[in-house]
Amino acid sequence: MSSSRILAGAVALSLALALVGCQRSPEPAAAPKPAAQVDAARLTNAATDGANWMSTGRTYDEQRHSPLTQVNDGNVAQLGLAWHHDLEAVNRGQASTPIVVDGVMYVSTTWSKVFALDAKTGKLLWGYDPQVPGEWGVNACCDVVNRGVAVWNGKVYLGTLDGRLVAIDAASGKPVWDVSTIDKAQRYASTGAPRVINGKVIIGNAGAEMGVRGYIGAYDAETGEQLWRFYTVPGNPKDGFENKAMEMAAKTWKGEWWKLGGGGTVWDAMAYDPETDLLYFGTGNGTPWNRKLRSPGGGDNLFLSSVIAVKAATGEYVWHYQHTPGDEWDYDSTNHIILANLAINGTERKVLLQAPKNGVFYVLDRVTGEHLSSKPFVDINWATGFDPKTGRPVENPAARYSQTGKLFMASPGPAGGHAWHAMSFSPKTGLVYIPAQDLSQGYLAEEGRKVSKYTFNIGYDFQKGSLPQVTAIKDAVKKTFVGHLAAWDPVAQKEVWRVQFSGPWEGGVVSTGGNLVFQGTPLGEFVAYSADKGQKLWSAQTQTGVMAAPITYEVDGQQYVAVVTGYGGALAIAAGELARDTHTRTNTPRVLVYALGGKDTLPQDPYVALPLNPPADTASAAVIDKGFKVFHPYCSNCHGDAAVSGSFIPDLQHSPTLLDAAAWEKIVLGGERKARGMVSFAEELSKEDVEATRAYVIHRAHQTLAEQKAAKPAG
Ligand code: CA
Repeated sequence: MSSSRILAGAVALSLALALVGCQRSPEPAAAPKPAAQVDAARLTNAATDGANWMSTGRTYDEQRHSPLTQVNDGNVAQLGLAWHHDLEAVNRGQASTPIVVDGVMYVSTTWSKVFALDAKTGKLLWGYDPQVPGEWGVNACCDVVNRGVAVWNGKVYLGTLDGRLVAIDAASGKPVWDVSTIDKAQRYASTGAPRVINGKVIIGNAGAEMGVRGYIGAYDAETGEQLWRFYTVPGNPKDGFENKAMEMAAKTWKGEWWKLGGGGTVWDAMAYDPETDLLYFGTGNGTPWNRKLRSPGGGDNLFLSSVIAVKAATGEYVWHYQHTPGDEWDYDSTNHIILANLAINGTERKVLLQAPKNGVFYVLDRVTGEHLSSKPFVDINWATGFDPKTGRPVENPAARYSQTGKLFMASPGPAGGHAWHAMSFSPKTGLVYIPAQDLSQGYLAEEGRKVSKYTFNIGYDFQKGSLPQVTAIKDAVKKTFVGHLAAWDPVAQKEVWRVQFSGPWEGGVVSTGGNLVFQGTPLGEFVAYSADKGQKLWSAQTQTGVMAAPITYEVDGQQYVAVVTGYGGALAIAAGELARDTHTRTNTPRVLVYALGGKDTLPQDPYVALPLNPPADTASAAVIDKGFKVFHPYCSNCHGDAAVSGSFIPDLQHSPTLLDAAAWEKIVLGGERKARGMVSFAEELSKEDVEATRAYVIHRAHQTLAEQKAAKPAG
C-alpha cells in the first residue's frame, strides 16, 4: 500500500471526525442516555442482558454466549447485511471484539485506534487515535493488532500498543487520562482488552519473545493511578521478592534468568468470579523459549505457561496451575479462559475451562485450582501422557531440543493447538466451541547469535528450522497445516462434532440461544453452524479474511450479529501457501453487521490482486544464501518464513520494491517506513546484508512462479 493511501485514510478519518464535531442533531424529546454507564451490578448480571455486549468476553465468566434467540437455526437463512463500516485501508490484522452498550458500538483497530459507531446504523460517532509511534511496531510479536476495549462508568478503556492505558470519554471520544503501564526501555506491547472490576481497570502486556518480565496490573478507573501489580516470574533474588509467590516461584528457576527477563507475559485471557473476587489470567511462554538459555539446569520455571488466580481487590496470589512445566515450545497459556458450573461425577463444580496452545483441554476447580481433568483436543507429540491426578505431562524426551541439540518436529508448533482466537461455551448445549488447529513446526536450538533490538530473542534457530532449508519439515508442515472448529464436551472430555478446514488460523466464535455458532474464516466467509450438530446453515462472503470473534446484540428489538474483518497477524505463513489469493491482494478491513432481512450490500470487491512480477534472478548462490541467513532471523517474524506472507499481506514476493535496490535499502536501512512499524535496521545490518535479502526474496518469488507453472501447465 502506498503512503498516499495511508494519507488518504488519515484525511478521511479527520474529515469524518470534523463532521461529527460540526453536526448538530435535532434536540431529542428525552434526554439521551448517558454513554457507557456500566457498573458492577450491570457487569455482574450481564448474562441476562442479551441486548448488550458490555465486556470483551460478554460476561465476567467470559462464556461469549448470548441468550438472544431472534436469529436462530430456523431462520438464519434470512440473515442479511444490515450495515458495514470501512475501517482504515490497511493490510494489517484485525483482532477486535466490539463492545456494545445501549446502542453504541466501541471497536478498536490496528495501531490501537478506537471508533464509536451507532450500533443500529453504523454511523460514525467518534474516532480516537492514541498516536502510537510507528517505531513501536517492532516490539509487537504478531502485528499491531488490538483485541478490544472495556467500558465502565461513562469511559472507554484502551490498552495501546506502546503500553499505555487510556481512559476515553465514551460520549465525546476525548481522552480523560493516559498513563504508561510499562518501562519504555523494555520491549513491551499491549494488545489485549482491559477488564474492569469494581472500579479497577486490569491490563497486562506482551513481549515474551522480546525479553521482558511479565506482569498484570490494576489501575484506578477514575484517575489511572496504579493500585497493584502482580509479576508472573521472579526477579533478581538480590533485590528481594515482591511477595511470597515470587519466593516460591524462584525455587523453580536456575542461573540468572532475570537478566533475560523471564517472560510469562499476560497478553490476553482473563476472567473474574464476583462470588470469590478471584481474577484469573493466563501467562505466556518463557524468555527465551530455549530453556537451556533461560534456566540452565532446568526447572518448571513458575509461573510460565500457567493460569493464575489472584484477589481482584489486592492482586494477592491465591493459586496457580502450570500447564506446561519448563516450557520451551512457545506454549502460552494466555488463551481464552471460561468459567462455568458443570456437573462432574454427579457433583456440581465451579470450573475453569481452558484450551492452551499446548493442545490439551483442562478442567480445573476455579476456587482451589485443583486439576479435575485434562485431555488433548488435537494431536500432540511433546508429551506421551499425563498424570491422571495432577495433569502433569510425561514429556517426550526428544521434544527437549535445547537438551538434545537436535531438530524436533513438535505438534503443536508455536501457533498452538488453539491460539488467541476466542472460544465460546453454550450452557444450552454444554459444549465449548474451539477454533482448533493441527500444525507442527521444527524446533532447533540456536547457537551463538547476539541479542537483537529488532527481532525475536528466543534461542531458536530460524534458519535451520525454516521451510526451504528442511524439506522434510516443509512436507510435514504442509500436511499438518489445517484447522477445525471443534465442539468439545468438557465433562466427558471428548469431541462431539467438528468442521474441518483446509487451513489454520480460523476466526474466533460466538454461540447463541438460537442454537447457532458463528465463525469467520481466513478465506473470507462468515458462517453460522447449528450449535448442537455443527451443520452449516448460512454463510456470507466477507471479501477479506476474518480472525476476530463475532458478537451479537440487540437494539430496538432487532438482533444483530457483528464481526470485524481483516486478516494478518502471525502465522499467515502457511495460510499464505494455502490461501494465496488472500495473501496476494490488498485488504480493506471492515465492521460487518447482520440482521434478519438485512439489505445492505458490500461495494464491489475493491481488492487489488498484486502480480508476481520479480526482476531477473541473477544473484549468485552465495548472495542468495547470505540473504536467506539474514532474512530468517530478522525479517521472517513479520514477513513470513521463506518470505511467504507473514503478518502483513500482500507478501514481499509481490512487492514492487523488489525491482529497485535503492528503494529497498531506503526502507530497510533508511527507516523510510518507520511510521508504519518498519524501522531502520542500520544498527544491526549492513548494505550487503540488505541487498542480499532482496536477492533472496527475488529468488523465492521465482521459485513460487515455477511452482505455479508446475501446478498449472500451459494448455
Ligand atoms: Ca508467545
